[in-house]
Amino acid sequence: MKIAVLGTGMVGRAIAEKLLSLGHQVAMGTRDPEKTKKIQKDDFSFQNWLAANQVKLTNFADAAALAETLVINCTAGMVSLEALKLAGRDNLKGKVLLDIANPLDFSKGQPPFLNPGNTDSLGEQIQAAFPETLVVKSLNTMNCYLMVNPSLVAGAHNVFVSGNDEAAKGKVKTLLNSFGWPMERIIDLGDITGARATEQLLPIWLKLWMAKGTPMFNFGIVMG
Ligand code: NAP
Repeated sequence: MKIAVLGTGMVGRAIAEKLLSLGHQVAMGTRDPEKTKKIQKDDFSFQNWLAANQVKLTNFADAAALAETLVINCTAGMVSLEALKLAGRDNLKGKVLLDIANPLDFSKGQPPFLNPGNTDSLGEQIQAAFPETLVVKSLNTMNCYLMVNPSLVAGAHNVFVSGNDEAAKGKVKTLLNSFGWPMERIIDLGDITGARATEQLLPIWLKLWMAKGTPMFNFGIVMG
């Protein structure tokens, strides 16, 4: 399948690598492809990453247009609406948008706070801004390496899915299953207001990261 990954950070790259390994074609969206290609940080070189991973790096609009039915939002949460506007309403129309972003606001320093939060969520704001797109919130409650390799954490831990369209959620569940998530570990929280709940797991997720000294953990729901 031709899939668009919007975002070039560690999440976008981890998702793109997994999709390629599963035989999908990936168009990766960024604001300025030439600038992104030149990214060199510590021992990471985007040019080397591109040489090892056959994605088509292009702008947000072209990436979204190339997607057959699935676009994955891996942009910084505070600017996801801007990135999706650049992707273009028509290029997103009728497609499933898997939203992984968290609206973490670092404007007042550390720790970040959620913006929006409590009575609203990024997932809901995206769905409201793009009513003809089928938004499904998922994977935002864990580290990106775990998203695509759940066996990195032992035991029965979970991934959550929220969205208004059952068929769209079904497509995302199938994708998650192909990433290694057993169907029984995928918890459907109902409509897109579930994004409010999962985005609000971020403050406890960040505290756990500090307390445990590693991001390699996940939430597991224990039933009586
Ligand atoms: P990030 O640094 O949060 O975001 C990078 C992407 O945001 C880049 O592609 C960048 O575009 C885009 N961006 C930045 N400013 C923009 C603007 N003004 N307009 C449009 N696009 C803009 O990357 P990340 O760490 O990979 O995280 C991606 C998302 O996943 C975030 O929302 C994060 O909260 C969420 N998340 C992360 C993890 C994790 O393990 N890191 C886990 C769960 C959820 P350019 O390519 O043009 O620079």
